[in-house]
Amino acid sequence: MTDMSPDERNRRINKLKRAFAYNLFCRQGVTSRSASLNDYYLAVSYTLRDRMQHFFVNSVEKLLEKDPKIVCYLSAEFLTGPHLHNNLVNLGLYEDFAQAAAETGLNLKEIINHEEEPGLGSGGLGRLAVCYLDSLSSLQIPAIGYGIRYEYGMFNQKIVNGWQKEFSDRWLHQGNPWEIKKPVMACEVSFGGRTEIYHTEKGIRRIRWRPTRVIMGVPYDTPIPGYKVNTVNYLRLWSTESHTSFDFSEFNTGDYYSAVADKLKAEAITKILYPSDEQIEGKQLRLQQQFFLVSCSLQDMIRLHLSRHSSLHNFYEHFQGQLNDTHPAVAVPELMRLLVDIHLYDWDEAWKITRKTLCYTNHTLLPEAMEKWPLDLFGSLLPRHLEIIYELNRCFLDEVRIKYPGDDGRLQRMSVIDETGPRYVRMVNLACMGAKVINGVAALHTNLLRKHTLADWDAMYPGKIRNVTNGVTPRRWIAVSNPRLTQLITEAIGEKWLTNLEELRRLEPLADDAAFQEAWRKVKEENKRDFAELMECRDNICVDPSVMFDVQVKRIHEYKRQHLNILHIITLYSRIKANPSLRITPRLFVFGGKAAPGYFMAKRIIKLINSVAQVINNDPAVRDQIKIFFIPNYSVKIGHIVYPMANLSEQISQAGMEASGTGNMKFSMNGALTIGTLDGANVEIRQEVGQENFFLFGLTVEQIMELRQKGYRPMDYYQNNESLRAAIELIRCGHFSSGDRELFKSIVDSLLYDDRYMLLADYQDYIDCQDRVSRLFEDKKSWTRMSILNTARMGKFSSDRSILEYSRKVWDVQPCPVELKWQELPEDGILFHSKDSGEQA
Ligand SMILES: *Cc1c(COP(=O)(O)O)cnc(C)c1O
Repeated sequence: MTDMSPDERNRRINKLKRAFAYNLFCRQGVTSRSASLNDYYLAVSYTLRDRMQHFFVNSVEKLLEKDPKIVCYLSAEFLTGPHLHNNLVNLGLYEDFAQAAAETGLNLKEIINHEEEPGLGSGGLGRLAVCYLDSLSSLQIPAIGYGIRYEYGMFNQKIVNGWQKEFSDRWLHQGNPWEIKKPVMACEVSFGGRTEIYHTEKGIRRIRWRPTRVIMGVPYDTPIPGYKVNTVNYLRLWSTESHTSFDFSEFNTGDYYSAVADKLKAEAITKILYPSDEQIEGKQLRLQQQFFLVSCSLQDMIRLHLSRHSSLHNFYEHFQGQLNDTHPAVAVPELMRLLVDIHLYDWDEAWKITRKTLCYTNHTLLPEAMEKWPLDLFGSLLPRHLEIIYELNRCFLDEVRIKYPGDDGRLQRMSVIDETGPRYVRMVNLACMGAKVINGVAALHTNLLRKHTLADWDAMYPGKIRNVTNGVTPRRWIAVSNPRLTQLITEAIGEKWLTNLEELRRLEPLADDAAFQEAWRKVKEENKRDFAELMECRDNICVDPSVMFDVQVKRIHEYKRQHLNILHIITLYSRIKANPSLRITPRLFVFGGKAAPGYFMAKRIIKLINSVAQVINNDPAVRDQIKIFFIPNYSVKIGHIVYPMANLSEQISQAGMEASGTGNMKFSMNGALTIGTLDGANVEIRQEVGQENFFLFGLTVEQIMELRQKGYRPMDYYQNNESLRAAIELIRCGHFSSGDRELFKSIVDSLLYDDRYMLLADYQDYIDCQDRVSRLFEDKKSWTRMSILNTARMGKFSSDRSILEYSRKVWDVQPCPVELKWQELPEDGILFHSKDSGEQA
């Protein structure tokens, strides 16, 4: 697509322009006279989608020809971010589209900016799933992402009076040009009722599930193009519809109105995404969502398999299911049910197939995030699955007994049924029991799984727990979000780094080059200027883009310790107030992130950040040196702006709490330096970039365990540290709350009397480390050198590397290259529009 004659290029641009006009007219039903920005956005997006369809059809044909193993990534969340810009970059069509738009009188950037992102995820876990889809396509590995098409995604956050307010996310209301509905592939999903025994004609005893509700799952496919390859995989999201031909008497309602009520109830299942992160939501609707996702996806995989094979005995050779956390763990009994009850396999064969098909990724060590369902709730919704779990568990515990005779404690811990109090189904144990491989998401995390959380499983199945450190895609997180840096890097070392991130090492020799340093600083400064302008437009806060931009964006959670960051800010504030002539290294502190709507402390922390901001930003004595900005509604779109503009990345969770983190990777790739604890992937980032290029502070996991054993007393730290005491006292006495001592009492009390995440123990080390950061920032050359080296040494954290590791260590899959060359659309460009319904492929 690069070496093209001017004539050829003109022809292509003209064709694009005709396609814009065609889509505007035929799909939107408007002309340029009346078209809105949204109409243009849709017309441009449809034009691109039509081109992707060619690649997609080629990819599918290749699959049919080669019959390779397909990765099926099952995830309750896919935080895609906006599609248009990413797809243009991956397909290598950005320049063509920009020119065609300009010649049509449109501004492509403005159109790109108009796209509202689908909020189908709440944080890192959902974003990881999409980085992995990008890498799977880019590496030409056949894959399907399976998820839920929530009608209302992650809530929109506004800050009102310093408090988080939630607003519903109506992401579909302006139309979604990327999805294609596939009604012919709909599946039925059942709930409730009871099971019964029957005998086949041959006298074989079998079980039948008699559900009380049957609903339909309809898939919507979103194409996922790889970077400059011909592979297009897809993300298949399921949406509920009421059963089209339900029989009133079957539902035993007898009257029309309750049948309509059933319809509404069916549709409720995929209405809304649960917005809690690292916290279980023990709601019945959530379990319904999980089962709905799993049942549709497994039925779909089986249907695809049986379209090419006569039996399911080799199912696992063609389909590799990956469970993103335990949310889809009910796949274990559901695959058993489909094999045994529906496809009539015998139990042992079915169990063999199941255990070779499914793998499980653990994402957390936090006890409150370990999913478990009250037994009664589970049994009333999925009676057959509970029976299957009982039977699997019975056999499994027999194995444990044989291996560890008389070890009742172990039996109790490993049982899928928690019987220590009220009875629960433990989803972690279910996933561990049914998985071929269990993996953690960073070296430290996996070691902690092996040593603590899943120690029994590691002992029973040595080698089953493996590590695959997370990664992020450099296409979205550098090429799309940071075009200036992309251009600078490509000018220096060519463009191969975008598909082999280790190539960034070739920047190392330039780390001390004065001209390159100057260019590097200029990129950062311009990114900062963009952000400063945005702030000025939005909130009338004026900042100098030469000050340090110190950023913490991520979900608000006590373990992530945004309030430790605040304690540092208050400490700086106190220093200046105590000594008005003091000059510190000026900083803009940027925060962003959503709190779960029911998470009291997290919401207070947001209020605290905004209250401290209010006081400091309005105090002439300090505001030239410290400013604080809370960006509302943190999302992928905001991430595009924030990761490229940061000088300093705050990764300050308590050691052992953040499984991996991926924000840490995005910052560092974009040339931010990290201040962080030895937690999650920070450990490996520090190893890669070199300890001299990373600001480390805080207790290690071992020190924390020791301290906890001894008995941790936060009050000791408080009493022995004057500046810590002063900082907490300012919060306590109402300095940031107009004298109100109640407002932040819960935060202060939790720090002084509990401090589960040990902020007070890490406080002084953090402050000292921040002082080193400030001193270093004054030395532009050293800082820039470190910044360049951070980017240069981040090769490991490409999601391409993660996916290659999964392919080798977990999935045993190979790429399936699609060699077909770019296929031109027919001259009129309307091959796929002839019926203009948007609902066919
Ligand atoms: C990367 C990302 C996250 C994860 O950030 P962490 O710092 O790893 O918690 C969350 N939300 C969005 C929008 C992201 O892009």
